[in-house]
Amino acid sequence: MRIVADTTRCVGAGQCVLSEPSVFDQDEEDGTVLVLVERPAEGGLDGVREAVGTCPSQALSLTED
Ligand code: SF4
Repeated sequence: MRIVADTTRCVGAGQCVLSEPSVFDQDEEDGTVLVLVERPAEGGLDGVREAVGTCPSQALSLTED
């Protein structure tokens, strides 16, 4: 699984960082999402899925490639 972040949609709400701080961070300048671990291990996907589901701007998705 690979995380895809559309920074043009991201509004810098930071919800993803609250859900999974080991995978997501925010740019210091504009607050947009930074993906620290593009391909998280299967065992660590719960927080990532929560982040994908709760992002208010639907900027995050998971892809199988
Ligand atoms: S939760 Fe969504 S809008 Fe907020 S920082 Fe993360 S990706 Fe951006």
